[in-house]
Formats: sequence, structure tokens, C-alpha cells
Amino acid sequence: MSNEQTFIAIKPDGVQRGLIGPIISRFEQRGFKLVAMKLVSPSRELLEKHYSELADKPFFPGLLSYMLSGPIVAMVWEGRDVVKTGRAILGATNPLASAPGTIRGDYAIDVGRNVCHGSDSVENAKKEIALWFNENEIQQYKHSQFDWIYEKP
Ligand code: GDP
Ligand code: MG
Repeated sequence: MSNEQTFIAIKPDGVQRGLIGPIISRFEQRGFKLVAMKLVSPSRELLEKHYSELADKPFFPGLLSYMLSGPIVAMVWEGRDVVKTGRAILGATNPLASAPGTIRGDYAIDVGRNVCHGSDSVENAKKEIALWFNENEIQQYKHSQFDWIYEKP
């Protein structure tokens, strides 16, 4: 399915460190299609929902203050197997365990400052996209590169 979607976010450290362009470029150059993007300062309530599975973790309060520390670039990227491939482009949760060539492996050191987020399953991607975006913020268009990227739709 070339219309699978994932939620990718550039966290406050990624924005402050001037990594918006390089992070977007990795998804663009791979051939994925950008279908939504905004610079936002999400509420604590939204972030508590976004990270609800981690609410019991000792690092949860620190994670929330990190995510509230500045604007975030929220995006939806579309393409074949984009959820799993997006995670591969990001690298491991702990940047020190991320291979060079991945975003976290190239730009981060600390797990609590790992510059980007990506959905970990198709089901969670759907939930996260619905949490961060209204339906009318998601664009539908034919990517001019489509026929050069995919052998078959
Ligand atoms: P992800 O899906 O790779 O982002 O990882 P998780 O969903 O497990 O965790 C969400 C975010 O919480 C991570 O990206 C980190 O920013 C943060 N996090 C995860 N584990 C730790 C930890 O052990 N310590 C700290 N300080 N932050 C963590
Ligand atoms: Mg996660």
C-alpha cells in the first residue's frame, strides 16, 4: 500500500538545533510524500494522550517538560511501508544505540533529547495522526515523483 501514513515529529531540541531541514530532507529524499505539516506548541493534555502508554515510567514528567519546552514540527508522511521505514530512518530510541546514518545516530546522544518521534505501528500512527491533525489538514495530491519511485501503485 503506497498510501500508508505515519506521524513524524521534530521535537523541541530538533527545532532549536536547526535540524528541521535535514530531518525533512531524509524523508523527502527517500521518496516519501509529505501530506501534512505544522509548527505547533501542543498542550500538556495532548502530550499526555500522545505518550499515555508511558505514564507510569519514572522519566514521564521529564519527557513532558522536554516536549513542552518549545515548538514542535508535526508531520504526516505517506508511502509504502512508511511506518516501519520511518522508524528505521529515525534509529533506535536511545541514540547511542542508533547506527550512524539514522537521524538519532547522526544528531543525538541522550535518550531524553533524541530530536524526533515516529509512530511505532500502523494502528498507533492512525491514533497519533487523529490526535495531532484535523482531517482537513491532511492533503491529498499526486506526488509528481510517484511513477519514478514505485514500479506499481
Ligand atoms: P520511541 O518510540 O523510540 O520515541 O520511544 P518510546 O515510545 O519508548 O519513548 C518515547 C520517548 O520517551 C523517547 O523517544 C524518549 O524521548 C523518551 N524516553 C524513552 N525512554 C527513556 C528513558 O529511559 N529515559 C528518558 N529520559 N527518556 C526516555
Ligand atoms: Mg514510541
